[in-house]
Amino acid sequence: MPHLSRRAALSLAVGAAASPLLPAIAVAAPPTLFPVWTVGTPGEMNWRVIAAATEDAARKLWLEWESLDDADEDDIPELDVRPTNPAVVEPQEYESEISLTCEQYESLGWDQICERCQCESDPSNYRVLPAMEGKSSFVVCHDCMRTEDWKHIDPDMYEEELAAERESQTAQAPKQAQPNE
Ligand SMILES: [Zn+2]
Repeated sequence: MPHLSRRAALSLAVGAAASPLLPAIAVAAPPTLFPVWTVGTPGEMNWRVIAAATEDAARKLWLEWESLDDADEDDIPELDVRPTNPAVVEPQEYESEISLTCEQYESLGWDQICERCQCESDPSNYRVLPAMEGKSSFVVCHDCMRTEDWKHIDPDMYEEELAAERESQTAQAPKQAQPNE
């Protein structure tokens, strides 16, 4: 520890007290968080999830990113700006566009595209398969669900599906055994 004379120590203390302490206050203050909005036109695939201070700021950012900020009023689509459930999407530290996981879109009730048939489905007609084997989570509609998919999201359903598969195999077995019937 460096030795300080009483005089030097005093002047340091005065200097410290006289400084505005702004950096320390800035660090201690909680960051301003921007709530998250979903912005788009009902029925269109133009929705964006945007963190912005206000509903109006979110709308402005959407127009900017769609290169419509200088467009005539007539060319601007009817926009729906909705607050997003903060329990699903946390408020953000910066104004920005946010990409959500399939799970978050599902929680917000969005339609999503099935990874296998590319059809758009509503949440009552799709499941989100968890991230696995280096793949991030993805959406599969009920028509495209395979037996092994259930193993990851609903073990009871998996057992049921397996049993149904076995049953249909035994039902087919006699036919296969008698090709000349
Ligand atoms: Zn599908």
